[in-house]
Amino acid sequence: MAVSGRGPYDPQNVFAKILRGEIPCRKVYENDYALAFQDIAPQAPVHVLVIPKGPYVSFADFSQTAGDAEIAGFTRAVGHVAGLLGLDEDGYRLLANMGVAAGQEVPHFHVHLFGGAALGPMLHRS
Ligand code: 5GP
Repeated sequence: MAVSGRGPYDPQNVFAKILRGEIPCRKVYENDYALAFQDIAPQAPVHVLVIPKGPYVSFADFSQTAGDAEIAGFTRAVGHVAGLLGLDEDGYRLLANMGVAAGQEVPHFHVHLFGGAALGPMLHRS
């Protein structure tokens, strides 16, 4: 079910549990600012989620309230993961769903990193 993308932060959300090690993930990368892991239901040959370590509900929350070091560290981590996965040459897509209109389901900010194939048009058109 889609969430609003606005607070308060729910520490029982699934990505908070992954960060605390309470449920497993297939980790790709971790540093002080970010954790990257395989999406449980991949929608492309490469589908990795990158999440900040801090408790941010959505991109709106992260962009408005995270510190400069967290924003820089997280952004660099996303780029680093893309490089680790060998996607720099062929390219990749980043996507962050914010709130109900975008269909955000997990209320912890995350960036989807898609690659490994031609990814088609930017938005699904029904
Ligand atoms: P959203 O719709 O919020 O942008 O994306 C949430 C993503 O989280 C979905 O792609 C979904 O497959 C993924 N996801 C949900 N629960 C889990 C989980 O327990 N583990 C992992 N690795 N991914 C999850």
